[in-house]
Amino acid sequence: MECIFCKIINGEIPSYTIYENDMVKAFLDISPVSNGHTLIIPKKHFENLYDMDEETLKQIETASQ
Ligand SMILES: [Zn+2]
Repeated sequence: MECIFCKIINGEIPSYTIYENDMVKAFLDISPVSNGHTLIIPKKHFENLYDMDEETLKQIETASQ
């Protein structure tokens, strides 16, 4: 099932990419509410954060530093 993050990864929703590798993508959330907040999301679809595998979590941690 496609969620909003999948659509961002697939480019169906435009985003301003700051950083990207094989597993994760960091982008600027440009909605007026969030005011330029950076979001880091896995490229693989996960139903929720608890389903995320360790390697992906590590990548997100690394990317957010
Ligand atoms: Zn998804």
